[in-house]
Amino acid sequence: TQRTLVLLKPDTVRRGLVGEVLSRFEAKGLTVVAMELRQITGELADQHYAEHVERDFYPPLRAFVTSGPLVSLVLEGDEAIEVVRAINGATDGRKAAPGTIRGDLSLSNRENLVHGSDSPESAEREIAIWFPGLT
Ligand code: ATP
Repeated sequence: TQRTLVLLKPDTVRRGLVGEVLSRFEAKGLTVVAMELRQITGELADQHYAEHVERDFYPPLRAFVTSGPLVSLVLEGDEAIEVVRAINGATDGRKAAPGTIRGDLSLSNRENLVHGSDSPESAEREIAIWFPGLT
């Protein structure tokens, strides 16, 4: 079994899609082992997106993820990392396949509703950032 760090970004909360998005993960059989609603600082965004801070798209991304409350959670299940990324769909909502969260619910490359860790190393790093108390 595996754990992965998932974010329901501020667009999900703003659009009232927290239930819809969370339902998809739960219906798949993944278990919520930690969850929190909060508005984050730019510093936390920089830590989370450490690999992107120098990119052109980062300043607007940073403004977006700090623009309102988001939901952070840890999901657990068999191959949870890959399973969550498949459920999320491609980064750009316009290109993401129908049936995925982004493919069904997002028309944007930035405001794409969700984040999921992309490897076991990222999951470990990100869970430590968002849920330092979780064992
Ligand atoms: P995430 O890491 O959020 O699950 P991802 O792995 O599909 O998404 P990354 O390439 O890691 O995508 O980019 C992180 C986030 O940065 C994306 O989810 C998106 O919100 C934003 N982003 C990435 N590329 C662009 C871009 N070209 N223009 C605007 N925003 C972008």
